Amino acid sequence: MEQSKFTGSRFLLITVLNVLITVFELLGGIFAGSLALISDALHNLSDSFSVILSYIAHRIGMRSPTPKNTYGYQRAEILAAFLNSLILVFLSLYLLLEGIKRIIHPEQVSGGIMFWIALISLAANLFATFLLSRDSKHNLNLRATYLHLLSDALASVGVIVGSLLIVFFGIYWVDPLVTILVSLYIAYEAWPIIRQTIAILMEGSPAINPEKVKTDLMEIPAVLGVHHFHAWLINENELVASVHINLGNISLSETEVIYSQIEKILKQKYNVIHVTIQAECTRGIRDKMCFSRDDEKHEN
Ligand SMILES: [Zn+2]
Ligand SMILES: [Zn+2]
Repeated sequence: MEQSKFTGSRFLLITVLNVLITVFELLGGIFAGSLALISDALHNLSDSFSVILSYIAHRIGMRSPTPKNTYGYQRAEILAAFLNSLILVFLSLYLLLEGIKRIIHPEQVSGGIMFWIALISLAANLFATFLLSRDSKHNLNLRATYLHLLSDALASVGVIVGSLLIVFFGIYWVDPLVTILVSLYIAYEAWPIIRQTIAILMEGSPAINPEKVKTDLMEIPAVLGVHHFHAWLINENELVASVHINLGNISLSETEVIYSQIEKILKQKYNVIHVTIQAECTRGIRDKMCFSRDDEKHEN
């Protein structure tokens, strides 16, 4: 698994920062009469929840496998990333509706107070984002959290631009317009994470083509047939597979040599970290690579 520097003290710092931004923005929003700031504060509240969820999932994910959970607990992080992305989608819909409502019914706000509160929130958000950015490249869960904080920073930029247009030109509808653009951006960023986590939870293995695997394994001279192939992801990096092969009536020690060859091919070409092989003589030799419910004679 990816070695992460996502330590407890940094988690605490990010969470405390987010809660402070939330309280500050909420009070400022009420004081300035700005619905945009209040919405942004609610947004930040969901961040604190996301960061806490990410951290708990990360800790659970690092636990060793047990007799009850033989794959370990890495899927906890996939579930957390999925949940975080769902929260983003609902938040995006909420902001979209609020933005439309405010375009239809514009509200007067104090642009000056709005400007300073948004500016301070932006500085705090950028700092929290910087703390996460270095760890977010290879981990879906941290990436979901990082994208979330980044979109917050953009939301604050939108509020700043809106406040300036209110102060200098009195254009109130620019504020809900920016809110709508930001909501679309959040949905756009959440979508790939939702797609990827669903693919993993559905036991999909998008990086592997069973027919290519068959071609590769059939190149081993002793292998007469390959069928009933399965591959699935434990997390976004680790692939597990199982496969049936047909061999001649050879000894177990000769079979072991072929197992090693298959493991080598699957590891080097397809990044499979663990493979289970079932060797057979003629059983299922005409069955397909992808198990079908029509393969009645040979269902294991
Ligand atoms: Zn957020
Ligand atoms: Zn078989």
